Amino acid sequence: MLSDKEVKKIFKEKASKEPDKYYATSVLKQEGFIRKKCIHCKKFFWTLNSEQKTCDDPACSGGFRFIENTPAKKSMSYIETWKKFSSLFKKLGYTPIKRYPVVARWRPDVYWVGASIYDFQPYVVSGEVKPPANPLIVPQVCLRFNDIDNVGITGAHYTSFVMIGQHAFQPPEKYDQEQYFRDIHSWLKKGLGLKNDEITFHEDAWAGGGNFGPCMEFFSRGLELGNQVYMLFEQTPNSYRELNIKVLDMGMGLERNAWFSSGTSTSYETTFPTVAKKLYNISGIKIDSSLMKKFLPYSSYLNVDEVEDIDKSWLYVASKINIDINELKQKIIPLSALYSIAEHSRSLLFALSDGALPSNIGGGYNLRVILRRALSFIDKYAWDISLTEVCNEHARYLKPLFPELSENFNTVSKILDVEKQKYNATKQKSRAIIGKLVKEKISEQKLLQLYDSQGIDPGIVKQEALKLGKTVEVPKNFYSMVSELHSKEKKEILEKKENLNLEGLNETKALYFDDYLKDKFNAKVLKIIGNNVVLDKTAFYPSSGGQDHDNGKINSQNVIDVFKQGSVIIHVLSEKPKFKEGDEVDGIINLNRRLQLAQHHTATHIINACARKTLGSHINQAGAKKTVEKAHLDITHYQSITNEELEKIEKLANKIVKDKIPIYLNFMLRNDAEKKYGMSIYQGGAVPGREIRIVEIKGLDVEACGGTHLKNTSEVGKIKILRAVKIQDGIVRIEFVAGERAKKEIDKKKGTLREISKILNVDEAQIPARVEELFTKWKKARKALKKAKQISKQELELKSTQRFKGDVLTKTAEILKTQPEHLVKTVKRFMDELESFKRKFN
Ligand SMILES: [Zn+2]
Ligand SMILES: [Zn+2]
Repeated sequence: MLSDKEVKKIFKEKASKEPDKYYATSVLKQEGFIRKKCIHCKKFFWTLNSEQKTCDDPACSGGFRFIENTPAKKSMSYIETWKKFSSLFKKLGYTPIKRYPVVARWRPDVYWVGASIYDFQPYVVSGEVKPPANPLIVPQVCLRFNDIDNVGITGAHYTSFVMIGQHAFQPPEKYDQEQYFRDIHSWLKKGLGLKNDEITFHEDAWAGGGNFGPCMEFFSRGLELGNQVYMLFEQTPNSYRELNIKVLDMGMGLERNAWFSSGTSTSYETTFPTVAKKLYNISGIKIDSSLMKKFLPYSSYLNVDEVEDIDKSWLYVASKINIDINELKQKIIPLSALYSIAEHSRSLLFALSDGALPSNIGGGYNLRVILRRALSFIDKYAWDISLTEVCNEHARYLKPLFPELSENFNTVSKILDVEKQKYNATKQKSRAIIGKLVKEKISEQKLLQLYDSQGIDPGIVKQEALKLGKTVEVPKNFYSMVSELHSKEKKEILEKKENLNLEGLNETKALYFDDYLKDKFNAKVLKIIGNNVVLDKTAFYPSSGGQDHDNGKINSQNVIDVFKQGSVIIHVLSEKPKFKEGDEVDGIINLNRRLQLAQHHTATHIINACARKTLGSHINQAGAKKTVEKAHLDITHYQSITNEELEKIEKLANKIVKDKIPIYLNFMLRNDAEKKYGMSIYQGGAVPGREIRIVEIKGLDVEACGGTHLKNTSEVGKIKILRAVKIQDGIVRIEFVAGERAKKEIDKKKGTLREISKILNVDEAQIPARVEELFTKWKKARKALKKAKQISKQELELKSTQRFKGDVLTKTAEILKTQPEHLVKTVKRFMDELESFKRKFN
């Protein structure tokens, strides 16, 4: 198979030889456009002007030429631009839909939505799932972190932007490329009010993910306004074929269109006018519009990704616009810092509001990078700017378009507070580290490592080093470099076992979805490989979705493991099967084990919902495991969970158990489920297929999940939370038990309590006070002994570990800083030591 790049090149050549076949040239000709070839980049383009020699790409035609000189008929604000687009396209028969979250929960391969078409990949584009409307338009917020260092400086780079999507998904006979082209052309004419002689269209090609097709980009006065892509073909091993569903994928930056219509000096002033104004006021920075007008056409020369020597470029730009380089830098650099703060805040607002958290891994890393970049600019210039207030202003301005940003603002604000504290703590810590390091030369690699492993911003390194009289060079594209370290696509962790040859076998019919109590079935043996058995249908649940497999018997032989390979379920017997392929066999599930697993699984959904109710709407599942012994749920949370919060979650969870809430299990069309319940159903990650199973605890929680679940919440019996541990930045693990296991746990505790009260010879209620009293004595004794004998520290040190739940036992455990399960041992040891102290000192 060829790479996307190769395919694009080959197809572009092919299409340029037969433009009438691949582009809507009849429309262009009707409108009076003629086809020409750019003298610089050799691209074919369409224009009204027979004299035009270049394609109007800024690189070929000398940059932007619309600043304070736009050919657009009427200036539109950011919000108005979408409204106008939306009303025009509604008239043209398109349905506007709501944006999808920026966190791409429905996709296993990416963290962030990077284009409007992501909303519909993979299942709508493949034709497996119907689109939510057809044709449709969407104002999709997208996040891209590959250009961080250019934000602010070039006047047009963003980490978040709204891609206006125009999409249609049609079989070949209904696909109407001419109409789609006419529609977008009517936006240029009627929406922006451009005359045809102000528009240039480019012939181009697009390829991605094995699909490809022609595309048409449209420009005016050096600015690319958008690109209409036609996904028509897919690659095959030796050639290519037409897609069954042809896809229109037009993407157009809302920021660019609004900017173009108003012709302000930077696009930021159009995108967030109220925030820009606020920041000018706080910082005292005044925008020099005559300088900006001269500077901006050249700002792209300062694109750090494309420029070899950035200092030379500054010199070049300064000479071009005839201004002293220092004066230019003095005016532009602080301004670009201000724009970066505003822009990064907006991205954070979108991401945090949609349930993402800054962290040091995965997609969360990108958020921490821009957050710290913004904070370090505030530090550098000592501006009195609060990111929370900036975000609040963004939310207010965007309310007509995205009201959800205001609704979720409380959570966003809390997360920003915690992150700022972390940043400040890092700053303190870094001083000491840098003090040591600065004796040697700090390399680029070291800077990256400091940021990556300890969160130390290179700006801080530079500042601290300077205080010590040393200079540190920070690469100009530093933030893009660190982002790249982590933004690699997320990998799906598959529960993979053996790789058996299952050729010719169809999907195993699963019998465990409807009724978790179904424990008997008969089936036909399709295949036997060693101890592995494949049946035509089964009630055995295979390990998946974090839930352990069932055990039981097939024809009285023990089933010790069950797993899934592709869509085939494989039973592992403890010995060679005594039956053969083609036989009918009886299966029976170990129902006790099944019940315990179902209790743990349903309890996981309950705790997830209760954590969200207690801690905030940002709580999402990051992982889960349900075994017979216990279960855990990993949730996204920006700090540790306190004992009080944990108690609240447990109480709420047990109330839900008591309330006997019915649990509905249904297969639904993916599209209907998303429409009805939203994208938060993908708590367990992306699930494949046209139909998905929905587990709904009425009024509490809805998830796409394939596990075995109870019929109502009371069947959980009891939920006991064991502990909460922060397992990584931004993720807290809650361990718990349910059902029979919870009862055992509670009994065990009671036993422990009885035993301790016996050792201490007091009532259970008096244990904490008694322990505290003894503990104080013991500490005093230890101190005295240590002084006297200088005994090794290790000998006396008690293991300090995570805190435990708040009852008498917890308090005891807390006082003794010990694991609850070691409590009896610790109390005994502690009493013994106290005795021996007494003997030594009395
Ligand atoms: Zn060109
Ligand atoms: Zn589940």
